[in-house]
Amino acid sequence: MLQAQISSFSTIISGAKNIVIVSHKSPDGDSVGSSMALYYFLINQGLAAEVSVCHPDPAPSFIRWADAENVILNFEEQQEAVSAKIKAADVLICLDFNDLSRVGDAMAAELLSSGAKKIMIDHHLKPSFDQFDLSISFPEKSSTCELLMEVMLAAEGEKFIDAIVGERLYLGIVTDTGSFRFNSVRKRTHELAAMLIDKGVNHTQVHERTFDDNTLERLQLRSYILSSCMEVWGELKTAILFLTLEDANRFKMQKGDTEGLVNVALSIKGIERAAFFKEEKDHVRISFRSKESIAVNEIAAQYFNGGGHRQAAGGRFDGALKESISEFKRVLNEA
Ligand code: 5GP
Ligand code: MN
Repeated sequence: MLQAQISSFSTIISGAKNIVIVSHKSPDGDSVGSSMALYYFLINQGLAAEVSVCHPDPAPSFIRWADAENVILNFEEQQEAVSAKIKAADVLICLDFNDLSRVGDAMAAELLSSGAKKIMIDHHLKPSFDQFDLSISFPEKSSTCELLMEVMLAAEGEKFIDAIVGERLYLGIVTDTGSFRFNSVRKRTHELAAMLIDKGVNHTQVHERTFDDNTLERLQLRSYILSSCMEVWGELKTAILFLTLEDANRFKMQKGDTEGLVNVALSIKGIERAAFFKEEKDHVRISFRSKESIAVNEIAAQYFNGGGHRQAAGGRFDGALKESISEFKRVLNEA
């Protein structure tokens, strides 16, 4: 962490009157965890500033415990309230994304036209530095929550990190590292986790609240996808999953129901790359995952209008589900 970045962060925060914390579209454990950890951290500091959290869309049920007080406003359902917050903001803190387009076009336009100081704290590759006044960007960090915790420690020491802040940091770290499994995990990641345990975080409880949130319908949808909507392309060491809009509706799919399923495809012996193709109204949304030897962010960026991390990326295809899958197969065969 650069001392100059921390001083600049502290100066901006201490002079703020209206701080708005923002994160990316399709909330995950790291975006909600970092948003709520920072929210309570700033509240604990007893700043004079008003602090709000505005996300583009609602969070899936498995992470809602992190916002039990319903602090987060979302642009999809509360557009007027979010617009008013953004207009009033003199400081915007953007967490877990590297380019304003990741909040969706309409909300991005409001952020772009805001005169507030913009701080980015993020771990994605290739950030758009020009959009922010202060960029704290460390792609080698496992999660925004890990990075945010380093920022908190460097700025204020341990004193404002209590169990409430800690549980939310732990949530982001545990979800973005596949429960401390991915190669983004360092010795330091475990040290920070240990520090959180000292702060009173009950790790078993965080896991239970987050990962034991299944409904019968969700498990049935997931079994259906695994049994009927999977193809294994052995020669390409690739497995794919797909879901039509019709099946999603038939199983009454809720947000978050297919979370992590692409990793199940990746867990097949001999498979090094997996993708999940989800049909939406006018396009196909794709999640890519890979084992250490292969990168998927390049394919996502080059052929599917997306990007991400080396081993976890996403993108979209403007066309039919079948076409998106055959395009992926074609690209792999060519490579
Ligand atoms: P997921 O498959 O969970 O939706 O996304 C995995 C990762 O890929 C995310 O953490 C994010 O970094 C990245 N990602 C997903 N969709 C996009 C996209 O449309 N554009 C870019 N640049 N990255 C994406
Ligand atoms: Mn993240």
